[in-house]
Amino acid sequence: MTTENAIHDSRQTLGFQAEVKQLLHLMIHSLYSNREIFLRELVSNCSDACDRLRFAAIAEPTLLPAGEDLAIRVSYDKQARTITVSDNGIGMTRDEMIEHLGTIAKSGTREFFAQLTGDQRKDSQLIGQFGVGFYSSFIVADRVSVLSRRAGAPAEQAAHWESDGGGEFTIEPATRAARGTDVVLHLKEGNDELLSGWKLRSILTHYSDHIATPIRMDKEEWDKDKNELRPTGEVETVNRASALWTRPKSEISDEQYREFYKHVAHDFSDPLAWTHNRVEGRNEYVQLLYLPKLAPFDLWDRKRTHGLKLYVRRVFIMDDAEQLLPSYLRFTRGIVDSSDLPLNISREILQESRDVKAIREGCSKRVLSLLEDLAQSRPDDYTGFWDQFGAVLKEGIGEDPPNAERIARLLRFASTADNGGKFSSLAEYVGRMKAGQSAIYYVTAESVEAARSSPHLEVFRKKGVEVLLLADRVDEWMLSFLTEFEGKPLTSVAKGDLALDALDDEQDKEDKRKAQDEYKDLVARIKESLGDRVSEVRVTSRLTESPACLVVDKDAMSAHLQRMLKASGQKTAPTVPILELNPHHPLVQRLRGDASDLGEWASLLLEQAILAEGGQLEDPARFVKRVNTLLLAGTH
Ligand code: ADP
Ligand code: MG
Repeated sequence: MTTENAIHDSRQTLGFQAEVKQLLHLMIHSLYSNREIFLRELVSNCSDACDRLRFAAIAEPTLLPAGEDLAIRVSYDKQARTITVSDNGIGMTRDEMIEHLGTIAKSGTREFFAQLTGDQRKDSQLIGQFGVGFYSSFIVADRVSVLSRRAGAPAEQAAHWESDGGGEFTIEPATRAARGTDVVLHLKEGNDELLSGWKLRSILTHYSDHIATPIRMDKEEWDKDKNELRPTGEVETVNRASALWTRPKSEISDEQYREFYKHVAHDFSDPLAWTHNRVEGRNEYVQLLYLPKLAPFDLWDRKRTHGLKLYVRRVFIMDDAEQLLPSYLRFTRGIVDSSDLPLNISREILQESRDVKAIREGCSKRVLSLLEDLAQSRPDDYTGFWDQFGAVLKEGIGEDPPNAERIARLLRFASTADNGGKFSSLAEYVGRMKAGQSAIYYVTAESVEAARSSPHLEVFRKKGVEVLLLADRVDEWMLSFLTEFEGKPLTSVAKGDLALDALDDEQDKEDKRKAQDEYKDLVARIKESLGDRVSEVRVTSRLTESPACLVVDKDAMSAHLQRMLKASGQKTAPTVPILELNPHHPLVQRLRGDASDLGEWASLLLEQAILAEGGQLEDPARFVKRVNTLLLAGTH
């Protein structure tokens, strides 16, 4: 802060948003052992502020007079025990300070916090998801003051913000000689080792070397007489100050790639993998794309912004350019720097540009290759990716037909095959198919456990045929696009004909013929008694333990999908199911002989079958009554 900068009266005290308070607390406690990151976060914000000013000046050149140099300044004051991080970037108005430094501007934050556990180790991983880098100042400071003036605003319209990281902050009008922001940290006891040029430089080299804007510090030299480091009066740049992605890959360390990720993704964790390429030809651009380790808490929030950071010839243009990637790859973070697009490109133009379309295709292919490499060379990490983002990637099967085959190879499923608890790919499934098996079988349900205990699996267990267990909301939708893999149809175990006949032996075939004959009568009577509640009644070879189950025709909507649509409030014409009976079950066998109460028994079989596949009864009380009546009748 220079002497020309002054703070006016009329100080206002405001409260932090409740979530900010919780977060501050969490942050201070869980990140203390890694407290140096405060500097990385503050410098990251300065760099963003410079990028945003450069961009604003494209439309409004007076904001950045020609020849003016944008820079970040880091200094310290041993006596006052402060560290100051400044920039001459875009700055903030008073209202922006209140909003950006007092709230977390993400929908769903409150709900998310409400369900946080006390497990701090776990929680500290989540901190990075909120875009809360600024608050990391309070890990080392017990008082933080920010003086900022927005580009284009007069000197006396600056504002001063201050807080001790408790529940409140103050804001008041101030004067600042030039546009930009100073963040002053008043260090807590025990942090004096940070009051050293050497220490600050080494933190900056470690975490912030990739920052494209120069970071400057006072040059210091050893003073033999005083036996200490003294400023020489000169200023030096302590980072490489060139855009990381423009450097040759061989000159970038993994560490630098990781730190750059944290800056662009506003994440505190390391990335899972990345890919960095210069694309040449008709469209020239550089892409540096990352896969995060953890899904953000609001991955499924439709309003959430996502996308890549777009640069044009190293000038930052926009965050979250959604057009650069299809929605099913929305977990990808990183940058694209185009050599061809105009600097004044808008979101609207992005949508129509053919160059952007080419970049989007290029980026999709790169992300898919990155995933393929990961699946191949680091299968455990790929499983980690799948856990976090698999359900998102599945959307690609329908969304990106040209790449659907590649995406299908990347899919992973729980399965009835004991695979050491591992997920299976479709290719692995096909590799395990039995001689004579012509289809890939799956079952969908609300959860993997429910899928695993579905009565439809009985015959598959008997014949030793593997079934994939699907329980993601998107699965049914995906399956409407994914009808085959390597020429093998994907077949629901709950639909029509199972095509398992080839696996039958002579005895099986004989049994089936006999059952058809013997149960002709009973089947007809049960159908008559159930009327419109079922479209057909038939004898099945699908079951070994349960008396009955429901199936639908091959092209009809599955019961699971119907339930999901109903739960989401959509009206669908209900598919009337087929009731299949197990001729080997004693209950069914008994009905063939004894016809009394047949109506009641038929209803009971139907209702049981509905319950067994996770459905709901229209009249549960009536069901209970029916069961009790039949139980009592059975005890006579
Ligand atoms: P993030 O950087 O992820 O958005 P931060 O907590 O680091 O989250 O910063 C919060 C917001 O405060 C930023 O998005 C920005 O709008 C504002 N901000 C912080 N530091 C500066 C700065 N030096 N110049 C301008 N704006 C800033
Ligand atoms: Mg930040």
